[in-house]
Amino acid sequence: MKKIVTWILVISICVFVISWGVIGLKIYDGNYDFQTEAYIALVCFIVIFSSIIYLRFTNRCPNCKKIVLINGKYCSHCGKEL
Ligand SMILES: [Zn+2]
Repeated sequence: MKKIVTWILVISICVFVISWGVIGLKIYDGNYDFQTEAYIALVCFIVIFSSIIYLRFTNRCPNCKKIVLINGKYCSHCGKEL
């Protein structure tokens, strides 16, 4: 599951960058009809944001299986190295 979310995150970052590139090119060409691209970018932004939150909140300790919120070297519940 975590791998899928990581892939979704990578893909949506790519789509996000591409859609902004398209918007940039359209503005450069004097074409201000980029509503579709703006929506795609917005959806990607939401997907990126939720994937990051998902990955943050599913970071579990291999020792006590509790959710570790901080990306530290040690578990905040049992103190074991992650
Ligand atoms: Zn732990």
